[in-house]
Amino acid sequence: MKNSTGAYAADGGVRSSSRESDDIERSLVIIKPDAVRKNIVGEIISRFEKEGLVIEDLKMMRITRELACQHYFEHQNKDFFGKLVEYICSDRVVVMIIKGRDAIRRVRRLMGPTDPKKAEKGTIRGDFGTDITVNAIHGSDCKESAEREIKLFFG
Ligand code: GDP
Ligand code: MG
Repeated sequence: MKNSTGAYAADGGVRSSSRESDDIERSLVIIKPDAVRKNIVGEIISRFEKEGLVIEDLKMMRITRELACQHYFEHQNKDFFGKLVEYICSDRVVVMIIKGRDAIRRVRRLMGPTDPKKAEKGTIRGDFGTDITVNAIHGSDCKESAEREIKLFFG
């Protein structure tokens, strides 16, 4: 919930009346292999926390080919699919459920656009992304994707 200064509450707007709680969303966020290798896991997580979003669950793992293909199934016919799967499986990642009011849109705003070259400084991809494949972070793009991705990674 926004307070009088327009900021979101420190609980990500999670504690609120039952009517307002309808707006609480969950996003599946992946800190991708390049960001883990750069040792900026904490830096990225703190950006979400400073925004008032809540880390509901978190784990470090290595994504298998099978899981990567399931996660990115919507891109299976794109020319970059093979490269994308190879990259996301190339090292450990940190996977999180991030919760809060309007969390999906807020997470994506903090991430910046897919191509780091088009991302503003101050966004995660603008500050840490390398190129359109190696772009530091994933965040769900809508409620349906978030639900599917959370099931895939957290059961
Ligand atoms: P996102 O939701 O912003 O992550 O972007 P998409 O869902 O469209 O793409 C998923 C991931 O595939 C991106 O985060 C990139 O890692 C990669 N990707 C997307 N578009 C391209 C592209 O045009 N070329 C290449 N090489 N990789 C891409
Ligand atoms: Mg996407």
